[in-house]
Amino acid sequence: MFSLFVRRLNTVWDNFERKLEDHIRTQRVFGLSQREIYTALQSDLDGSQSVFGDLIGGAQRETDFGLNASYQVASNEGIAAEMVVWTLDPEAEHCDSCLAQSAMGARRRDVVPFPGFQPTAGESNCERYCKCTLEPVNG
Ligand SMILES: [Zn+2]
Repeated sequence: MFSLFVRRLNTVWDNFERKLEDHIRTQRVFGLSQREIYTALQSDLDGSQSVFGDLIGGAQRETDFGLNASYQVASNEGIAAEMVVWTLDPEAEHCDSCLAQSAMGARRRDVVPFPGFQPTAGESNCERYCKCTLEPVNG
């Protein structure tokens, strides 16, 4: 789980590097000097402009994803039961994918995806914003 999170953060970083290179290349084509380009980039460091803004936004999204996934792990790791049922949070809106999971009833723990990592069924999938939990079933 954690390695997935790190991989996603790396993707954000790779995209940023590529975008920064493109940006610098474009500025050179327009005839800006190295110094002009870096001065402009420095004033963009607060993230208000596109290049750094995307990096910050992307990192924020993936951090939220990681935190939510960790929360899901923490709320589910106590499950020792063999059989679990996908349980919808009564307060949350439900996507097609979670509704499909919950419709499958009690299943063995090892064949049920982790909330937040459910495969897409139907039109929608809440993925990282999933609030579902796996509840043990006795008997
Ligand atoms: Zn869902």
